[in-house]
Amino acid sequence: MMYGYAGTLLRVDLSNGEIRKEPLPEDKVEEYIGGRGLVARFLWDEISPDTEPFSEKNMFIAATGPLTGILLPGSCKTHFGSKSAATGGYADSNMGGHFGPALKYAGYDVLILTGKASEPSYLFIDDEKVEIRSAALYWGKGAITTEEALKKEVGKDFQIITVGPASEKLVRFACICHAFGRQAGRTGIGSVLASKNIKAIAVRGSGAIPVFDIEQAYRNGREAYQAIYEKPGFTGWTPEGTAGLTDWVNKVGAFPTRNFQTSYVDHYEQINGKAINDRLKIIDKGCFCCPNPCGKYGHTETRLGSAYVEGPEYETIALFGGSCMLPTIEEVAYANYVCDDLGLDTISAASVAAWTMECFEKGIITKDQLGREVHFGDLESVVYLLEQMSKREGFFDLLAEGVKSASDKVGQGSDMFAIHVKGLEWTGYECHNAPGMMLAYMTADIGAHHNRAWVLGADVTGSSTSVHDLISAGASGERMPKVEVSGKAANVIDSQTTRPIFDILGVCRLQHMEIGFEVEHYEKIFHAVTGKEKNWDEFRRVSDKVWHLTRCFSVREIENFGRHLDYPPARLSEEPIKSGPNEGHRITREELDLMLDEYYEARGWDKNGIPTTETLERVGLKDVADTLEVRR
Ligand code: SF4
Repeated sequence: MMYGYAGTLLRVDLSNGEIRKEPLPEDKVEEYIGGRGLVARFLWDEISPDTEPFSEKNMFIAATGPLTGILLPGSCKTHFGSKSAATGGYADSNMGGHFGPALKYAGYDVLILTGKASEPSYLFIDDEKVEIRSAALYWGKGAITTEEALKKEVGKDFQIITVGPASEKLVRFACICHAFGRQAGRTGIGSVLASKNIKAIAVRGSGAIPVFDIEQAYRNGREAYQAIYEKPGFTGWTPEGTAGLTDWVNKVGAFPTRNFQTSYVDHYEQINGKAINDRLKIIDKGCFCCPNPCGKYGHTETRLGSAYVEGPEYETIALFGGSCMLPTIEEVAYANYVCDDLGLDTISAASVAAWTMECFEKGIITKDQLGREVHFGDLESVVYLLEQMSKREGFFDLLAEGVKSASDKVGQGSDMFAIHVKGLEWTGYECHNAPGMMLAYMTADIGAHHNRAWVLGADVTGSSTSVHDLISAGASGERMPKVEVSGKAANVIDSQTTRPIFDILGVCRLQHMEIGFEVEHYEKIFHAVTGKEKNWDEFRRVSDKVWHLTRCFSVREIENFGRHLDYPPARLSEEPIKSGPNEGHRITREELDLMLDEYYEARGWDKNGIPTTETLERVGLKDVADTLEVRR
């Protein structure tokens, strides 16, 4: 009996319709625990090298963790993985909501799809019953529209993930949508699912998950909820959720504006968490078992239309309200809604829109190519670009490939301001004077993403202050001194080691990161649920191993992978920031090199950023070292 796990791996080969239920491999579970850990190991073991992201041989994995679906704080997460549509390397993206718990109650910890269905289909899972059904009625429909319609077909109590039209057109930054507002947003995971002709997965489960010591788990659960409710972060952070960060980031000059040309906006009070609460919010909306819901479900009205929408979260505010310069929270929320229904990742889609608007302003891309003028701060321009890139017609086919590929083709220096790392668009923090955060983006395993390590607070304050404390302390908006670049690696690696643990366990990290819920609770809960004695150090060991493994996956899959792919775009290092609290600051190429050298050394990677054989053997990845050796 594997306590904490449903015990079954569900495999569906969509090409021949074969459905197989296998015992969850105990050796993998023992070493990689769950969620992101299992995703990484299954991808390494089962994808043949050189698989194309949209080929039938790519895998689509949905993995839960041992704490997913257990009635404990934030036990909601599902981790998706594949070879990346955005970068060609390692990809994962996770999501809260209710899908993962339902999958486990149906009896499955992990779902692996391979092959390609012969026609648009959806996967129907109702406990033991697993069927591939026609999705002819839904193909071409919006992600939200599809979820609503499918609930009518299969039943309201099914938990459903869908993809939108952008995924069907294989837009490389299309996402998975769920629960009318939750997304697994990054790496183009939605387009990988759609490339298999799968429009949705509907799951309902009525089973139970075996728990090692149910009485103890119950006591730990009560203790955990009580502890969270009593934290200052509970009342300080929950009311605005991630959007509460807007004012602070802007005032320290780290808010990306006009495609990262500047890093401060005057209209921040029009797009912040307070604006959401005052002008949009109807109700707080949380994931499965969340004591501190960060979802803000509301209604927006603009000259282009009105919509019910969850969010916007901080990242969406930063990219649409800052990088695209939309002036009001209503407009940001409307762009958010358009992305949600088209099935676009708000971060990458807004980044592509901002890059296009800058190209248009500079005369690099013309009105003839676009079909109209496009301008920063103009909702019509932004929505037009979102809709066109989702169709992939004409010139917009190029935009659907993401800013790296688009700028490579458009040329004329537009790669200078294509804001990405490894092909994944950068998220909501401008880093001209935030070297630790810059390093976190440069070395994130899926490309430029903030959730792998968030060390902006440490860059600005010099200590690892919690987000809640940063928000409470506020920021002056005055000129920031230049931050020292050396010595950043240790903090970045620490954050890159801590954060994946929550993804591996299958829980939301925000209870710990933003509310201050102590890690000791997770050790106790893990023991009560699984019966296993693993302390926080052991979780860190597994997390560290997974970090090396995902780097090796990209080494294996991306031709000529190495150091050159870890640099930020020229705008973020060669161009000093033009205005705001960090005016004139930049991180030079020499400083970037210093940071990378320190980071690689601390990781045990060579000067080219490749994990050494010695390091891989030390962390228990000798087989991975051997494979890389053969490929070399
Ligand atoms: Fe979901 Fe937000 Fe709660 Fe985390 S904090 S479980 S993301 S609602």
